[in-house]
Amino acid sequence: MEVFTNIYNYNYDIITIKEEKMDTQVFNNISYGMYIVTTKNNNKNVGCFINTLSQVTSKKPVISITLNKDNYTTKCLKESKYCAISILEEKAPKELIAKFGYFSSKDTDKFKDIQWEEIKKLPVVTENICGYIIGKVINIIDVNTHNIFIIEVETTKQISTNTPMTYKYYHEVLKGKTSSKAPTYIEEKEETNKTSKRYKCTICGYIYDDEVEKIKFEDLPSDWKCPICGVGKDKFIKI
Ligand code: FE
Repeated sequence: MEVFTNIYNYNYDIITIKEEKMDTQVFNNISYGMYIVTTKNNNKNVGCFINTLSQVTSKKPVISITLNKDNYTTKCLKESKYCAISILEEKAPKELIAKFGYFSSKDTDKFKDIQWEEIKKLPVVTENICGYIIGKVINIIDVNTHNIFIIEVETTKQISTNTPMTYKYYHEVLKGKTSSKAPTYIEEKEETNKTSKRYKCTICGYIYDDEVEKIKFEDLPSDWKCPICGVGKDKFIKI
């Protein structure tokens, strides 16, 4: 007697639902934290921002993190096999998140002008964090555009008891944007009924709307910076 039945055998159409028919807004209900994953490759300190971390086991602690295959940090972590993960506290400045979230370690020294320490031969971000986790990659799972790294924890340290930052807080309070490389990225629909002039930051996706801001984008001073990622006006395009 067959005990398990694949429900899709009866209606194959269920799994062929087109992605555009999905209500992707439902994914916004999933909770995440805010982390910076760092490693070392050929003596170069690299790292990037992630929100997809979860604890897999507790007795012999194992965690999982998900990184975009195109990220330079992903390539480095595949080679180094060791990483540190700093857990950001709620009062961490958005400039720190932007630095690790929107730029590549390939051409940016993300560790310049921030607090970090070398611990167990790894660069660990120690600024505005609740604590850190250091571990060894024991498995890498290939999932389309991303890799899930399974990490056996070797060292941990609690730095403060401050409230850790959640992804919801980052979005709602800091008005942060999700990088298009994040596993949780949901493409925003362009508002086609807008008549005001709007400009989009090509680095982080922030939109400057002349009507909302009261000052025309063209009239902003030349040293004006994107409020999310900090780049200049030259990185904006008219939409
Ligand atoms: Fe920006």
